Amino acid sequence: MIALSLAEIAEVVGGQTYDIPDPSLRVTGPVVRDSREVEPGSLFVAFVGERVDGHDFAAAVVEAGAAAVLASRPVGVPAIVVDDVQRALGALARHVVGRLGTTLVALTGSAGKTSTKDLIAQVLRRKAPTVFTPGSLNNEIGLPLTALSATEETKFLVLEMGARGIGHIRYLAELTPPKVGLVLNVGTAHIGEFGGREQIAEAKGELVEALPSSEDGGAAILNADDPLVRAMASRTKAKVILFGESDEADVRAENVRLTDSGQPAFMLHTPSGASEVTMRLYGEHHVSNALAAAAVAHELGMSAEEIATALSEAGSLSRWRMEVTERPDGVTVVNDAYNANPESMRAALRALAAMGKGRRTWAVLGKMAELGDEALAEHDAVGRLAVRLNVSKLVAVGGREASWLQLGAYNEGSWGEESVHVSDAQAAVDLLRSELRPGDVVLVKASRSVGLESVAQALVETG
Ligand code: ATP
Ligand code: MG
Repeated sequence: MIALSLAEIAEVVGGQTYDIPDPSLRVTGPVVRDSREVEPGSLFVAFVGERVDGHDFAAAVVEAGAAAVLASRPVGVPAIVVDDVQRALGALARHVVGRLGTTLVALTGSAGKTSTKDLIAQVLRRKAPTVFTPGSLNNEIGLPLTALSATEETKFLVLEMGARGIGHIRYLAELTPPKVGLVLNVGTAHIGEFGGREQIAEAKGELVEALPSSEDGGAAILNADDPLVRAMASRTKAKVILFGESDEADVRAENVRLTDSGQPAFMLHTPSGASEVTMRLYGEHHVSNALAAAAVAHELGMSAEEIATALSEAGSLSRWRMEVTERPDGVTVVNDAYNANPESMRAALRALAAMGKGRRTWAVLGKMAELGDEALAEHDAVGRLAVRLNVSKLVAVGGREASWLQLGAYNEGSWGEESVHVSDAQAAVDLLRSELRPGDVVLVKASRSVGLESVAQALVETG
């Protein structure tokens, strides 16, 4: 963060100072909510959680060197006390990004936000110092904390924004007003909470509504291949840049293919030229993510060659997303257990099919959460797709949804023992340990709540 005094911070957040001997003392360390991350000069933000109350750590963090605590009650050590800590944190972030000369890039979408955010960061940081959301900290707490980690040197600040409902992105975009806003896709993620795709589009489109006009440098980067995203062009005053495989896209991919190892390759076209990309990441869904990153980088002044080189060298920065491990015995484990929705299930299955040419392939799949009324049909469709892609074996893990996956597979191809349903992760591990043969490729994927990464980890350790 830029070094602000405790008095300045108290003023920005409208707080009262308590037990502060020297209000001109500056916060020179990171702003954190986790007491273990406190460094000398930090500002510690005390949240009251369900199990833990951050205020209980106040004395310890000051002992560890924190300059003060942002709190909702006096804590007996230097504190700035406010009614609402979350709002205060947001106000501080807003103030700080307003003072920095940093270009803010925000992105949202149903699937691929974190993957794309990581790609954007890896491209932009070749040009200038870049700060970006760690992991998936994309809500009203993670976002301001990330923004507050920017310094005077930071040229680009890349922020993932998650939407849980109408008004949520609008709120996040007020805290950290982006100049470049990217919408990846409108899928079925969280459809149960939202009520339908149109509502999801309504909520995600708030990002482009928040952008400055094209005269003021605003740029809306929209997916030409997704009709609901494309339609957001009418909701913004910013310049619109389209990406995708469609001919109308400003930044597009031609000759898209998967290499023999399952990695996507394509010719990248931007308005400033063309250059060949061969990705290190697995799965064709990354083509769309890469094009989105390329469009952002193009808008921020990078050439097609620079972008293509960066995309070709980019790796995954966030775990459990198509994480590929080759075991010594020749079994390949693909851990995509971070999360799942219908789009990402299809993309991952296609990647599995490409990687597994001539090999035996296993799809170890669990439920896709939050699908509301579409849950049965969507699980059925994924099971069917596994058969159509010639996946050798389907292991459906868990309860009702797993049985829908298995039934879909069964109905698509008169499968018998090629598809099995097991009750939990341990049963899946036991089955795979006894059945896997050298050369097999195993994909592991389900929604976060299923916790299937334990299966992938057990398989990696077995090897
Ligand atoms: P979250 O909402 O949990 O933050 P996210 O939008 O950040 O998710 P990622 O973490 O990047 O998304 O990816 C989630 C899953 O979606 C992964 O399994 C990944 O393989 C898959 N995925 C990534 N990009 C796409 C895409 N463009 N289309 C469909 N699926 C994708
Ligand atoms: Mg994410």
